[in-house]
Amino acid sequence: MNPYQTFQQHLLAELDAIRSAGLYKQERILVSPQSVHLRLNSGQEVLNFCANNYLGLSDRPELIEAARQAMTGRGYGMSSVRFICGTQDLHKDLEAAIARFFGTEDTILYAACFDANGGVFEPLLDERDAIISDALNHASIIDGVRLCKAVRYRYANADMDDLEKQLQVAQAQRFRLIVTDGVFSMDGNVAPLNRIYALAQQYNAMVMVDESHSAGVVGQTGRGVTEQFDLRGKIEILTGTLGKAFGGAIGGFTTGKKEIIDLLRQRSRPYLFSNSLPPAVVGAGIYTFQYLEKSSELTNRLHENTAYFVERMKQAGFDIKPTQSAICAVMLYDAKLSQEMAAQLLEEGIYVTGFFYPVVPKDQARIRVQLSAAHEKAQLDRCIEAFIKVGKTLKIIQ
Ligand SMILES: *Cc1c(COP(=O)(O)O)cnc(C)c1O
Repeated sequence: MNPYQTFQQHLLAELDAIRSAGLYKQERILVSPQSVHLRLNSGQEVLNFCANNYLGLSDRPELIEAARQAMTGRGYGMSSVRFICGTQDLHKDLEAAIARFFGTEDTILYAACFDANGGVFEPLLDERDAIISDALNHASIIDGVRLCKAVRYRYANADMDDLEKQLQVAQAQRFRLIVTDGVFSMDGNVAPLNRIYALAQQYNAMVMVDESHSAGVVGQTGRGVTEQFDLRGKIEILTGTLGKAFGGAIGGFTTGKKEIIDLLRQRSRPYLFSNSLPPAVVGAGIYTFQYLEKSSELTNRLHENTAYFVERMKQAGFDIKPTQSAICAVMLYDAKLSQEMAAQLLEEGIYVTGFFYPVVPKDQARIRVQLSAAHEKAQLDRCIEAFIKVGKTLKIIQ
């Protein structure tokens, strides 16, 4: 036996276990751009209701043109990290544009928000400090916290009594940082940032919000949860992604207090030891933030679409989780039913995903619908009608 053979047996057994638990993830193959209309490699044409393409920017011609121009003017790849020879004027322009958008002091770019979250805690805090984290925070926050020596506290999702208890215990540490997602991706609820901020003041803590699912979406003009709760400029650290509302390509950022960003540039490992974002991505990012500075039309349309969809689905009798974002969880509770419903909806030309344990709690299976500014009324209606048809067939509604 060669060294790989026993390991291979082990992997095959693991994969079998995943398959027999019904948890093996199959990837559908698209042969069209990311958009409302998708073509699958099976030839099927479907309407897309499961992308993070909240503002419909993923295939916007102006954005593609901005990427093309940046690539023509500044080349394809950077072949360097930022601090050696990987910083162009474009990178500084994008960092400034992001800070203007969020009303913060400075911004640092990363290859992804996963890296922003992975590299934010360890340079700032050590074993004398405390991180108090929402139980439903994104995997990248959990991993980032693991890389840091700070004492860890966890509070139940958006549970302010529990947060207060943890803050009381955490008085034993030197500095305290409360960390929360802005919008929680499985329910679509917004973190109660006004109450988190009040507790932070009371218990002498700082706050970090991951705006990945909230930026472009939440708040009157889409500036995120700090706009929603009138806390612009007050939160020490925000992280976010360019991979959702802002064009959907790749890239992440941390934005906030000047000294924090400054220290991250010196010590944050995914920034120091990973390649600089390519000019095309940066150029398209600049276009996006300049456009959103001038107009909140896309966010307005997203808000209208979400309100319309949720209202019509409730009228049809579906059990919809209360949402304050562009995520609409249609509750089915039963895991198998969620898969059956998603499959039947696909046959009707509606592409959505059913989620079940362990992605969501046991017996909390659901279909997650994600709305976009790019959806037209007629497309929303087609989706709702398909839900009603399949819902009746499967006896979910009457
Ligand atoms: C999607 C997401 C991320 C990861 O963003 P990438 O830029 O794709 O790495 C991080 N945090 C939250 C809350 C997210 O939803």
